[in-house]
Amino acid sequence: MPAFSVYICTAALLCIAHDCLSFENQTVNYNETISLKNELNLTLNLTEKATNKPQPAEDHSQGEKNTSDYGKEMKKETTGAKQIKGKINIYFNLLSLSPLDCPPLGLESLRVSDDQLQASSSLSFGLGAHRGRLNIQSGLEDDDEYDGAWCAGTEDQEQWLQLDARRQTLFTGVILQGRNSIWSLNWVRTYKVQFSNDSVLWQPCMNGSKEALFVGNEDLETPVLALFPEPSVARFIRINPQSWYSNGTICLRAEVLGCSLPDPSSPDPPETNRSSDDLDFRHHNYNEMRKTGQYWKTEGKRVSWDGKVSNQQCNTSVQLSTFYTKGAGSYTGLKLYVMEISDSPGKHELGEPEFRYVAGMHGNEVLGRELLLNLMQFLCREYKRGNQRVVQLVKETRIHLLPSMNPDGYETAYEKGSELSGWALGRYSFEGIDMNHNFPDLNNIMWDAQELATDKRRVSNHYIPMPEYYTSTDALIAPETRAVISWMQDIPFVLSANLHGGELVVTYPFDCTRDWIPREDTPTADNDFFRWLAAVYASTNLVMANPERRVCHTEDFQQHNNIINGANWHTVPGSMNDFSYLHTNCFEITVELSCDKFPHAAELPVEWENNKESLLLYMEQVHRGIKGVIRDKDTKAGIANAVIKVDGLDHDIRSAQDGDYWRLLNPGDYKVTVWAEGYFPRIRHCAVGSEPRATLCDFTLTRTTQDRLKQILAKGGKMPRDNQVRIRAMRMRKLRASTKILNRRREQQQRLKVRRK
Ligand SMILES: [Zn+2]
Repeated sequence: MPAFSVYICTAALLCIAHDCLSFENQTVNYNETISLKNELNLTLNLTEKATNKPQPAEDHSQGEKNTSDYGKEMKKETTGAKQIKGKINIYFNLLSLSPLDCPPLGLESLRVSDDQLQASSSLSFGLGAHRGRLNIQSGLEDDDEYDGAWCAGTEDQEQWLQLDARRQTLFTGVILQGRNSIWSLNWVRTYKVQFSNDSVLWQPCMNGSKEALFVGNEDLETPVLALFPEPSVARFIRINPQSWYSNGTICLRAEVLGCSLPDPSSPDPPETNRSSDDLDFRHHNYNEMRKTGQYWKTEGKRVSWDGKVSNQQCNTSVQLSTFYTKGAGSYTGLKLYVMEISDSPGKHELGEPEFRYVAGMHGNEVLGRELLLNLMQFLCREYKRGNQRVVQLVKETRIHLLPSMNPDGYETAYEKGSELSGWALGRYSFEGIDMNHNFPDLNNIMWDAQELATDKRRVSNHYIPMPEYYTSTDALIAPETRAVISWMQDIPFVLSANLHGGELVVTYPFDCTRDWIPREDTPTADNDFFRWLAAVYASTNLVMANPERRVCHTEDFQQHNNIINGANWHTVPGSMNDFSYLHTNCFEITVELSCDKFPHAAELPVEWENNKESLLLYMEQVHRGIKGVIRDKDTKAGIANAVIKVDGLDHDIRSAQDGDYWRLLNPGDYKVTVWAEGYFPRIRHCAVGSEPRATLCDFTLTRTTQDRLKQILAKGGKMPRDNQVRIRAMRMRKLRASTKILNRRREQQQRLKVRRK
């Protein structure tokens, strides 16, 4: 069967990433193909009639697509090119597609399975065709099972990596990357491309009368895009290296861009990648995130939202607010926006637990950001529709969503786009700080104190103050980290998850090993509950739960049911999870959401489906264990900072400002002791059932009388004092003061810079 080619241009000689499309001297030839005959006839008829009409697909290809790089190229086109593009667009409109929108087929996202990839030869199994995927990571050592590219076994110009798309596909381009390795340098400099319908007869990718030669890589990591001068419809595509780095050999990682077409010979319809929820599935940069729904119609500190997203009105139930004071935010001044979802926004309700999701601490791990924007929209809409599950959740929980903890990093990655940002661009803050190592390391403070103490029970196991040096203006702490620490102390969070990307696994604390061992299981006192939390997310995430799934990069987390102790993966001192557990009452886990850190916009609906149940079910876990209010017996006033001690668990928690508390626990019977400065302790037995509803366990404390205090002092005893909570509060005040100074200094510098410009 002859290949069907849509000739877009014949003049682009060499297709190099950013100067790819030149639309001089085009000819358009529509050849026939059996499978596409009917659609094509219709297309040609329409094309004849529509040449002079404004082209409807034009607008579609502009705007907020995150494939903005491709879009930029198109702006350079000439009038002639526009007409041709119009014809193609009309054709694609029939399929609800635009050729500019042809997404990656999914070598990186793993939508393309291993058996769809073949190669002429391979250096080893670990360098087989199935490893030739964009952004795949190798282990620390080379030459193991999980290496960082496909490498040909023979060094000549006849080598190829082949993709079987399994159906008729319009192939529009290739993205190439060198081999991921810290030991060797290998990349492909130039390559050719061939197409086939049967993998026997091959047609070269042409550039006019010549075979097209594409420019590949000059380093290991930078992805380089080539759009084909003549996109072709076929089932198979080959990447055929012609020259490579002279001191290396033929190795590459690739992504293929293309649109699946209706194919009568294939039983499946083209993958439409839809979700049953009609949400705003696209990548939102900072301005778009802000615009979406016009979040901020500020009335004082209260913010109402008139939800322009999909015309949803949401101003009765959803409040969206900035948690950070005016003028501060990221290093460059982008704000850290938090959306709060609550039936009584803007305030803490007695007894109601507070939940948070944090995403984008690594700016290039973008899926969490979009999932949280989707979640916000979903909760809002379903609440209005009266979805019982959502109504109950929103009524009983105050939910905070921080979609972008590192907005500076995100913008850097976004500018390059989902396929061209590589593996690390945008990970760090503007100053180059990795925020997940930037929180105070309280683990080692606690462990050191335990080692020095004669009575280990006297060493505090919770609410550990940050060290003094951390509060100074000289401490190397990102403004974003400072903002989040402050937020974590302002609100009595009970449960949280920190959303990352680049792997498929859920990790639970501790993240940091004792004694600087690179990796070792380092459980917290609440290990059982943390494992439960991690399992809740991992077992309901549709990709993780799929036993057929392949390893993302180098580690097989499926053998641990997709959950692992953070420190047992790799040690991270100063992680947000560990800080949250040791400095506040909040239990936090990390979710690595997808193999691909920056999935193409086309993947977002399916990623929402993959994570929707996990996101909801995980929030519902905030209602496990025991909760209640601790009050003064006489005045009935709530007692703040009371210590809640559960027998057998070496981790206490504290009551919030109004005396309410939440202690997450697995089902069981517990002996609970509550103590506060100036009060007699009280003990109660509280039973926790298996249903996700916290057991009410209130406490009434009696003040220690002057007589009782005198007795203690007379016996030479010391008045028990709760100094820890004072030190913790004092250090927090210092941190806020130094942050204020730094923010002011930064604002002044930025103002100067603007003036100089
Ligand atoms: Zn990360």
